Amino acid sequence: QNLQADSRDHVLPPFTDYQALNAKGARVITKGDGIYIWDSEGHKILDGMAGLWCVNVGYGRQELVDAAAKQMQELPFYNLFFQTTHVPAIELAKEIASIAPEGMHKVFFTGSGSESNDTVLRMVRHFWACQGKPEKKWIISRLNGYHGSTVAGASLGGMKPMHEQGDLPIPYIDHIPQPYWFGEGGNMTPDEFGVWAAEQLDKKIQEIGADNVAAFIAEPIQGAGGVIIPPATYWPTIKKVLAKYDILLVVDEVICGFGRTGEWFGSQYFDLKPDLMPVAKGMTSGYLPMGAVLVGDRVAKVLTEQGGEFYHGFTYSGHPVAAAVALENLRILKNEHIVTQVKEKTAPYLQKKWAELADHPLVGEARTTGLLGALELVKDKQSRERFPGGNTGMRCREHCFNNGLVMRAVGDTMIISPPLVITCEQIDELVALARKALDATWAELKA
Ligand code: PLP
Repeated sequence: QNLQADSRDHVLPPFTDYQALNAKGARVITKGDGIYIWDSEGHKILDGMAGLWCVNVGYGRQELVDAAAKQMQELPFYNLFFQTTHVPAIELAKEIASIAPEGMHKVFFTGSGSESNDTVLRMVRHFWACQGKPEKKWIISRLNGYHGSTVAGASLGGMKPMHEQGDLPIPYIDHIPQPYWFGEGGNMTPDEFGVWAAEQLDKKIQEIGADNVAAFIAEPIQGAGGVIIPPATYWPTIKKVLAKYDILLVVDEVICGFGRTGEWFGSQYFDLKPDLMPVAKGMTSGYLPMGAVLVGDRVAKVLTEQGGEFYHGFTYSGHPVAAAVALENLRILKNEHIVTQVKEKTAPYLQKKWAELADHPLVGEARTTGLLGALELVKDKQSRERFPGGNTGMRCREHCFNNGLVMRAVGDTMIISPPLVITCEQIDELVALARKALDATWAELKA
């Protein structure tokens, strides 16, 4: 209670309703091990969100602690500015290049996913300006996409409430509809809707003029928007559209990167050839803050041969301790074959078990890809009508928490993204806890 009071008095936390916080206080999380966390009252909770989609190797990995301690003793800080560098950054960039999609060999380090997307915005404009095309500065992204909280990140993102609070987006950014079939597909089949949603990119490019468009940015699967898994026709059609124009493809891998889909990157899962790939989160499994932009050969060539100085970077770009932890994190993912295990074992198992939840009266759709999952909570399965009040998801989230499971609510969509080390037995536990929360929510709504 003291901790809660001090928290309320002194911490302004991100993405929190401050009036609700005043009324109820925040849960204090004190420890983690494997896929579980504990709160200050001693409750053990299965972390179905891997923190914020990031604790890929699970909590309590001593190797990561040791890697950080060793690097702190050796060289706790140095920077990559002005033609200096250090060993962890070099080794990490080389390691990342070895798992990146074909044609990506260079890494620009940042401190977070938001910084990565700010870097993207500046880098694509610099890329075109270097080639005498400064008018190519528009960036097209998607409604309900999430690309971070900085001014550029929130502008690239398509979150309405974020735009309304900050008078965003900044100029030269425009958005197209998301490929959210369950919510917005109307009477179209998923395949028809996937084509329709991708064709909106073509329409938007024509509206702005291809000569003015620098890049299209999108998440392979929209995470914070509600685990929006695009219909099978979506990405192939986007690729066809982009092939008609000279426009860069930026794939935001902040969530999908480092194994989430069962491939190293979502781009490999969907067979995409990005020019730029912002990453963060799973890069260090969240043990330390770090991000990067992976840069494809076309952009790298212009930057390194024509660009001169790129006036951009962060004090903590490539921070040596974070880089040492990221390297060790990648070693764990590789040596323990964690990404392969997701692809061959746990993702197929989750898909099967998650689909069984579709028989619940409250569930209109149960979908997964890799270790990402979503449940659409509805009043009526046929019409997809939601319960009035718009708080079904929040109710369900509360029941989850009280039963020992973290699931996130995005409106009335419940989502999961557990640590990649989750076992099949633990998936059974997660699904059973989710069903219990659905039952409790349904009983409450029907009362
Ligand atoms: N991009 C995507 C797809 C994300 O999901 C997030 C965070 O959730 C970000 C960017 C922003 O990353 P960060 O919170 O590290 O700034």
